[in-house]
Amino acid sequence: MFDCHMHTHLSGDSQARLDEMCQAALQKGIGTLCTTEHVDIGHPDKETLFLCEPYREREQIERARERFAQLKILWGLEVGYMPATIVQTRLYAQRYELDYLLYSVHVAGEWDCYDKEYYEGLTRRQAYLRYLDAVIDSLDAWDGFDCMGHLGYIAKCAPYEDPALRLGDYREAVEAILQRLVRMGKGLEINTSSFPKTGGPMPEADILRRYREMGGEIATIGSDAHAPEAVGQHFKAALELARTAGFERLCYFEGRRPVFEPIDKMMAALR
Ligand SMILES: [Zn+2]
Ligand SMILES: [Zn+2]
Repeated sequence: MFDCHMHTHLSGDSQARLDEMCQAALQKGIGTLCTTEHVDIGHPDKETLFLCEPYREREQIERARERFAQLKILWGLEVGYMPATIVQTRLYAQRYELDYLLYSVHVAGEWDCYDKEYYEGLTRRQAYLRYLDAVIDSLDAWDGFDCMGHLGYIAKCAPYEDPALRLGDYREAVEAILQRLVRMGKGLEINTSSFPKTGGPMPEADILRRYREMGGEIATIGSDAHAPEAVGQHFKAALELARTAGFERLCYFEGRRPVFEPIDKMMAALR
């Protein structure tokens, strides 16, 4: 069992120590974990928070590997897309020998979907389409990543009741994204950090099913934990949904290559 998305204190929005994340993973039956600290070059208001220091990360991972020999600890980054800095972002990502490159869109237009200013003067539809258009642009701008992070991120942040981003409401834009991922041979992350807000993962189950129907085979699972108690959060429910959506196996990335595990085996390992 694995968790492919988590942040430690080397990301500016987390206080967690990698040792604590490792302990939490062990307790939950997760034998493989991948750290994915933030890299958001040119973030409008949080660049200093969201620019990790890779050499400190590598040190941290090497120390944890010595202490937790029973775990597989992988080194990834969560790279954020912004049009103005995509060239620097691409160069940055190529510089390190990573296991996993997770590509996420947090900012669309001038603001991060997390910021309340993002929604000012926009209808819900305009707000969601602005985010989806940014995801389409991100895929047209770069193909050097492994997996698209938390598709539907805006639902976790938006100030609306029932904020889920559903396939039926945004079919054209969502299918344009899925089509690109399948054509590029890139993966889709099942991110469970939205469960408390929307009751489901990002992307929601129908989008996951549509990706599978369109030929998508590569899907990872990540808690996006910023604290130890969130490691592996809502994984049982998410694995059930993945199975219902047509997946028999999910993967993590090691040395930038997918390693698949049957969902049945993952389920059996989870505690
Ligand atoms: Zn993110
Ligand atoms: Zn994250």
